[in-house]
Amino acid sequence: MTSKALVATLALCGLGVAACGGTAGDAGAGPAQVGGPASGAATQATQTTHTTPAALATPETPATGGSAPAGALSGKVVVIDPGHNGQNYRHPSEINKQVNILTEKKACDTTGTATNSGYSEAAFTWDVSQRLAKILKSRGATVKLTRPDNAGVGPCITERAAIGNKAHADAAISIHGDGAGPADHGFHIIMPKKINGPVDPVVGASTKLGIAVRDAYRSETGVAYSTYIGSKALDFRNDLGGLNLSTVPKIFIECGNMRNAGDAAKFQDPAFRQKAAVALADGLQNYLK
Ligand code: ZN
Repeated sequence: MTSKALVATLALCGLGVAACGGTAGDAGAGPAQVGGPASGAATQATQTTHTTPAALATPETPATGGSAPAGALSGKVVVIDPGHNGQNYRHPSEINKQVNILTEKKACDTTGTATNSGYSEAAFTWDVSQRLAKILKSRGATVKLTRPDNAGVGPCITERAAIGNKAHADAAISIHGDGAGPADHGFHIIMPKKINGPVDPVVGASTKLGIAVRDAYRSETGVAYSTYIGSKALDFRNDLGGLNLSTVPKIFIECGNMRNAGDAAKFQDPAFRQKAAVALADGLQNYLK
């Protein structure tokens, strides 16, 4: 393969084995793929501000969402990690920087994948995360996001974990869309394994969180269990920095496969993204109550 062809392939982080999500080398964990995710993402923003650890964002306008009574999550802290960032692809040297995730060294962050029509994973995760934050806040939770917008770079996967730890989150969730083969579809949850490290004490709680979110997402969105990873949409990994370094209960969700036409159509529908956010909120609440 020529170097030009290689770049073209890597640009879609998700074609082939170097997928961004649950397929080998996630999201937040695999080698950073450089190049624009697709035309849609390339035109999303021209701003090049960089996310810093201090730039935590909390959506400002709580909105109603879901069916739970307000206050159901009073006193609970939830950290939402929208996978990737809208400008990662413009800053390969920053996101390719190697960081220590205890079981190995990995890229600071990755570009994420995109649908065939150019809707980027970073935009998807940001949109769903904003919707989820509003719903959780309307139910009384304190919510923090790991990045303030979709127009910056990073933060590194190590920092994404540290933000949840520093917030003493009762639950943390990293939101992604996978980039697997076009015939693969469905969603899955990724939970941590024991690594003789800081995540070990929360492996059990993370599993409970994962099952609660799996059940709510399946029943409320109708998205199928992954046809290509895990058992009944549950997978356990020790190669994700966002999990290995977490000292609070934490999971990843790959909401579907952005390279599959059926899943992509759902992702591109705002009504589906709202339904997904409500489902995630309900799953988190079922775990937290
Ligand atoms: Zn991802």
